[in-house]
Amino acid sequence: MRRGKRVLLAGLVLSMMPTLAMAEEVVIYSARKDHLIKPLLDAYKARTGVEGRFLSDDAAPLTARLKAEGANTPADLLLTVDVGNLWNAAQEGVLQEVQSEVLDKNVPAHLRDPGHRWFGVTVRARTLVYHTERVKPEQLSTYENLADAAWKGKLCLRSSKKVYNQSLVAMLIARLGLEKTEAVVKGWVANLADAPFANDTKVMEAILAGQCDVGIVNTYYFGELQEKRPDMPLALYWPNQKESGVHINVSGAGVTAHARNRAGAVKLLEWFTTEEAQRLFADLNKEYPVNAAVAASPSVSAWGRFKADEMPLVKAGEHQADAVMLMDRVGYK
Ligand code: FE
Repeated sequence: MRRGKRVLLAGLVLSMMPTLAMAEEVVIYSARKDHLIKPLLDAYKARTGVEGRFLSDDAAPLTARLKAEGANTPADLLLTVDVGNLWNAAQEGVLQEVQSEVLDKNVPAHLRDPGHRWFGVTVRARTLVYHTERVKPEQLSTYENLADAAWKGKLCLRSSKKVYNQSLVAMLIARLGLEKTEAVVKGWVANLADAPFANDTKVMEAILAGQCDVGIVNTYYFGELQEKRPDMPLALYWPNQKESGVHINVSGAGVTAHARNRAGAVKLLEWFTTEEAQRLFADLNKEYPVNAAVAASPSVSAWGRFKADEMPLVKAGEHQADAVMLMDRVGYK
């Protein structure tokens, strides 16, 4: 009798353990900076009791790692920036389809994969930045206009090796076609004041130093620099307002193909798109919420409202290889 009870109890404990362990933890491969993801996961744990554990690296090594680990991967969720990286991960087969009413409601259709494998979590705009004493905003109009000879020796750009510029050019290809886009990017290269820079902040520093007058940057880098130098004579400009709108991109996530805790990963991803998490994301990195019900932080809202390009971001992935070859052809380093 006593022995039977003990066996029953042991069996019960054993059968519960894997379930409990699975419900507890979500493992994330993250290409975001630790100080951005950590507060989000802390807030999620405080709310749900569920621990989010993360391993940080760049998107390409994380995707390669997921592929190599296959069914043995500990990762449930891949979190990274730029649709180019998300699209690649989906192409490599390391993400799985997720059907979720919450995600479909919170994430606009053009900011998620039509195949349901990745979803935008935050939005950033890749827009024009100019020196307020040397350029009048009336002189600016579109991305294409930066190819005009009027900007000769006045343009600074980040390297074409960065996925942000690959996605920007890919979206230009989607809109204008290859031939027109090639003429535009060729014009940009002809107008460069200096060799392309390693990052967006260096582009703005070059403008401040008088090397050039105008550049193209992601909004949150402007926000970071503005916080350090509130009086800097730089301003953002929203191009293509009479046409297609400003090029926007996302940071986003997808559930891994071999997620052990699929349900937990979906729940965490859904939570990322809720008001509570969207506010945290927006404030921590000066990005725009992907969820239209949530307002941007005051410092971001102060940059003004703009019309954003609503062409499906998946196009940036589809034209990525064309964009890389095009930039190579015209000598954009
Ligand atoms: Fe960035």
